Amino acid sequence: MQSIKMLDLVSKYEAPLYVYDSDKIAANYNDFVNAFKVPKLKVHYACKALSNITILKLFRSLGAGLDCVSSQEIRLGLLAGFKPEDILFTPNNISEAEYDHTVSLGVNITVDNFEMLEYFGSTYPEVPVCVRINPHMMAGGNRKISVGHIGSKFGISIHQLPLLERIVNSFKMNINGIHVHTGSDILDSEIFIKAAQLILSVVDKFDTVKFVDFGSGFKVAYKENGLHTDIAEFGEEFSTMFNEYCEKRGKQYELKFEPGKYMVSDAGVFLARANVIKQTPATTFVGVDSGMNHLIRPMFYDAYHEITNISNPEGKKKIYSVVGYICENDTFGVDRQLSQVRKDDILQFKNAGAYCFSMSSNYNSRYRPAEVLIHNGKDYLIREREQFDDLIKNQPSIEI
Ligand SMILES: *Cc1c(COP(=O)(O)O)cnc(C)c1O
Repeated sequence: MQSIKMLDLVSKYEAPLYVYDSDKIAANYNDFVNAFKVPKLKVHYACKALSNITILKLFRSLGAGLDCVSSQEIRLGLLAGFKPEDILFTPNNISEAEYDHTVSLGVNITVDNFEMLEYFGSTYPEVPVCVRINPHMMAGGNRKISVGHIGSKFGISIHQLPLLERIVNSFKMNINGIHVHTGSDILDSEIFIKAAQLILSVVDKFDTVKFVDFGSGFKVAYKENGLHTDIAEFGEEFSTMFNEYCEKRGKQYELKFEPGKYMVSDAGVFLARANVIKQTPATTFVGVDSGMNHLIRPMFYDAYHEITNISNPEGKKKIYSVVGYICENDTFGVDRQLSQVRKDDILQFKNAGAYCFSMSSNYNSRYRPAEVLIHNGKDYLIREREQFDDLIKNQPSIEI
């Protein structure tokens, strides 16, 4: 990424701009895969983090599977060349019609409530189904992104195991996998492993199970030396536990994970131009040519993105609040130390690979930015900046 200068990319493609690095994505994927010492492993990239079709093709070329949460993501995955059997479908609260469609596509189905389980039992008794379990454990982090706790909407409660067994047995269902995803931010691998052991006690109940899918929640560092999952250490501990379980059961289960953020977060940056430097009585604001319409994580769940002024790296350090142009609370960062910012300088936001472009919108009727991939030392435009036509193309012209 260093060899290609970000400022040159801004000259070529204009700002605001997302830039991703395929070498970094490959390194993240390989570190993850190599951390686990088990006979059967498949890592499915959770593509909601960054779903550009070129990024999906990159994951396919690395040997990953895909984790999809909508039938549209499945279609993107198939278009990117993934085989249906390498795609996991792990949605939440979707309709029977959407499930019907995905059954016809031949992907691996996961259900996360009893109604849908009974629907599959009565409608598709021959289709193997994976069941999402909620172990009710908080894996650290922020309540908004912890999805394993008692108040969470996800999964079938581990306390309802007897009902689960009754439904599966009465329909003679083929439960091919057990799934858990306790949400982002695994700070404590001990809690994760405890939750995993609970999940394995569910695997015990179903002889048809072939794989156990432990979802994701791997944490990346947002600051230098920031808290993050030590994947090598976690992988070693986890593999030991998992291998012992398989040995005890006398059966080689396939181990699956679905990391999104871990794969792409630090492989992307977001570049935005400073439009206005405004001194108020209390604060110096930098207003950039972007906002929550392009990168909503700071406003949505207080995510931290490191910001630097790449146009003036040697400039004197000053304290700024970096804000966007949206007419709404639109703050990227408060009291940040940046090299002096001048009008038209380019600010770089780190960790912009995951849940940034993929959560972007047209709020305030603005265009979504372009995306560029650096691959084998060259830059490729992988998504064009939107234009006015994109805003109105789905709106019939009605005479009023
Ligand atoms: C979002 C999601 C993931 C990916 O989570 P990350 O924190 O980005 O790694 C994995 N599995 C499921 C079911 C998800 O909904």
